[in-house]
Amino acid sequence: MVVLVVNCGSSSLKYELFAGDQSVCSGLAERVGVDGGQHAVLTHKCGHEATAQISAPMPDHTVAFDHVVAMLTDPEHGQISSLQEIEAVGHRVVHGGEQFTESVLIDDEVIAAIEDFCELAPLHNPPNLAGIRACQQRLPGIPMVAVFDTAFHQTMPAHAFVYGLPYRMYQKHHIRRYGFHGTSHRYVAIEAARYLQAAGIPPNQQKIVTCHLGNGASVTAINGGCSVDCSLGFTPLEGLLMGTRSGDLDPAIPLHLIRAMGMDVADVDRLLNTESGLLGVSGVSSDMRDVMQAAEEGNRQAQLAVDIFCYRVRKYIGAYAAAMGGLDAVVFTAGIGENAPQIRRGCVKGLEFIGLHLDEASNNNVGDDQEITVISTANSPAYILVIPTNEELMIARDTAAIVSNMTQ
Ligand code: ADP
Repeated sequence: MVVLVVNCGSSSLKYELFAGDQSVCSGLAERVGVDGGQHAVLTHKCGHEATAQISAPMPDHTVAFDHVVAMLTDPEHGQISSLQEIEAVGHRVVHGGEQFTESVLIDDEVIAAIEDFCELAPLHNPPNLAGIRACQQRLPGIPMVAVFDTAFHQTMPAHAFVYGLPYRMYQKHHIRRYGFHGTSHRYVAIEAARYLQAAGIPPNQQKIVTCHLGNGASVTAINGGCSVDCSLGFTPLEGLLMGTRSGDLDPAIPLHLIRAMGMDVADVDRLLNTESGLLGVSGVSSDMRDVMQAAEEGNRQAQLAVDIFCYRVRKYIGAYAAAMGGLDAVVFTAGIGENAPQIRRGCVKGLEFIGLHLDEASNNNVGDDQEITVISTANSPAYILVIPTNEELMIARDTAAIVSNMTQ
């Protein structure tokens, strides 16, 4: 089945066209709606090669989508001759609340629910909806599927998702841990589960900790294929140190910032979400490559940022092994997890006591094109794996499965 995957952020539109599991082409429109979209750029790729780039005003996601459609069918750069070739569209949707435990075919009710969850994800669900509406207009009649970042985590038990607040905050106001990055955690967990099964561990007994370490970062505990805890919480601010987000902190700190330092809510929001994390601690950059480089050159704050990053991942791995009562594998994925051997080493340092023995040579030799690389020693009681994530492929697979079921 030919599936177009669409992922709209606040000022971006990412797309990838699949024929079955095969990626045909992909691309990214950036600066959509920023300053009226005057400086928007669309880059189209086949494989890793950028094959075309256009600069054009893109005041909103509908106009951006028009450019995507034109690019896909462009006689010189496009990969399809007509839009009728697209059989289904899969949309990434960040927040599905408690209603969506798996991917669903989009209808009016689903759209209304995604609208309702805008309150819980004000930065993410509105652009996701804009993408859905643009597709409805431009590709009328083509079935669309929503794949939620939160859905995979809906199997978490109440003791993991209820905060220590008055219970009405959960019941009436829906304040609870939702967890995010679910599509990525699910993708690598499926790959890891297949590997562990071949190694003799039955799927329903597998205890896996997946570490999605990118600009946004999270750790998930997966017991018997189900998410049982995630470091991201009510919003994607909790947990690990991220590019610009603080992760865990004493909840009284924002109160102190407001009361004693005269900040208002917008100041605190900006501080915690965009000025903290690797950027805030290092003072150098939100990008791990820059921070590591500065640390190597002797910048002590940069080294501290790296140390905090690794320490938190270590703490979560230990906590989740305890939560599951055992550990069969730790999986590293996303930009940092797939590409930074020093960080992976830091994240499992001292964890031999829970069965994690790193093989230095394999850790330093993870190839780009491997689906799965084992970086633990041959006699390590638990596996350490590097698995490149592929959220788009996961979305394409869900979409194809749901749409082909519908037409049967
Ligand atoms: P996003 O959450 O934006 O999708 P990615 O998964 O692409 O993020 O991860 C981005 C992060 O990965 C950045 O911090 C970047 O520095 C880091 N990264 C990418 N390649 C490397 C590398 N070779 N070494 C260290 N960090 C890397």
